[in-house]
Amino acid sequence: MDHFELKNGELCAEQVPLAEIAREVGTPVYVYSRATLSRHARVFREALSALPKVHIAFAVKSNPNLAVLRLLAKEGYGADVVSEGEMNRALAAGIAPKDVVFSGVGKTRAELIAAVRAGIGQFNLESEEEGVELAGIAAALGKTAACALRVNPDVDARTHAKISTGKAENKFGVSHDRASGIYARLSALPGLDMRGLAVHIGSQIGDLEPSRQAFLKMGALMNALRVQGFKVTHMDLGGGLGVPYKAGEQLPTPADYGAMVTEVALGWGVTLMFEPGRVITGNSGVLVTEVVRVKRGAGHPWVVVDAAMNDLARPAMYDAWHDFVAVKPSGETMIANIVGPICESSDTFALAREIDAVRVGDLAVFRTAGAYGATMANTYNSRALVPEVMVDGDKWAVVASRIEPATILAAEQVPEWLD
Ligand SMILES: *Cc1c(COP(=O)(O)O)cnc(C)c1O
Repeated sequence: MDHFELKNGELCAEQVPLAEIAREVGTPVYVYSRATLSRHARVFREALSALPKVHIAFAVKSNPNLAVLRLLAKEGYGADVVSEGEMNRALAAGIAPKDVVFSGVGKTRAELIAAVRAGIGQFNLESEEEGVELAGIAAALGKTAACALRVNPDVDARTHAKISTGKAENKFGVSHDRASGIYARLSALPGLDMRGLAVHIGSQIGDLEPSRQAFLKMGALMNALRVQGFKVTHMDLGGGLGVPYKAGEQLPTPADYGAMVTEVALGWGVTLMFEPGRVITGNSGVLVTEVVRVKRGAGHPWVVVDAAMNDLARPAMYDAWHDFVAVKPSGETMIANIVGPICESSDTFALAREIDAVRVGDLAVFRTAGAYGATMANTYNSRALVPEVMVDGDKWAVVASRIEPATILAAEQVPEWLD
């Protein structure tokens, strides 16, 4: 459910007509709904309410906008970060260091030092080597780093290959067979407080069974570690729950997910940690675009819009589907290919899609663009970096300015020996 609805024949974000934002800010522009974000944050928390101790760390990579992070901080969310840049954003948004989880397979020495200094709440270690390095850093700084060991459970999340992370051939975590040996060795190191395990098998998960299998494996490993005398007080079950991208698509809901987790993990006697990203932000944003041209083709007409793969990369990267709807639908439809202006054939949003009929100058949106949208944007083809807006009832504000190509050009220089 979201708050992007037709009012008097035109698509609004909450009470604000998207046409008003497009007129004032220009297009393309991402628009987020505060009410939708808050609702998703509360629904996800509510779904876990049968569990005694829960910590929810929002996956910053899905939407790192400062205003989004501030809103989620006010909802009581922590943050799951994968770089020093994301860590600094989370802290700048007012999330307490102790509520931050640092994940990622390639944390650099400089990042580990910065995170230990900042007092980050938990490091999700992706290898024994990382644990050894972190132990040295923490001990030298006179600190103790709380850690979970990320385990690769070797289950197939049955999602797109590029966002599957829990199969043996994926780079993430340590193998299930080696996990208890590594946990034991890291537990002996000064500077580390090994307190639990972490798992994350992928994103846009539409079937709960692989997650259930992974969580059962983690529960068994937790028990085995306890039998060996190790402490396991925290279990981080990652993120990954999918969202519907097509109108009418049925996916497991947060309530279904919560019921599954409760069934598996209720008796574990740990703080359960979660790292949801897409399920919080996905349906909370749209990308507003203007039709630049409608071009006759060999087959269906080409609807060329002013948003491109540099603004919304998911269709080009993952063959992802985003519903495309007119801001002022006439009631008529057409079958068209929707493309951006970039000089790549992968700059294609949809082929042979039945859509609202649109003409040059019309506004339209790509729906469900709040996750992995603006954050993946770049300036390819010397285009601007896309701006972001947040709406709250009848108010709205720019929460990330458009960065013009001239600003990027100004950061480049020609060495004098070239002239
Ligand atoms: C990407 C990621 C998440 C969030 O995934 P979603 O599908 O957006 O929920 C959580 N944890 C880790 C470690 C990740 O890499």
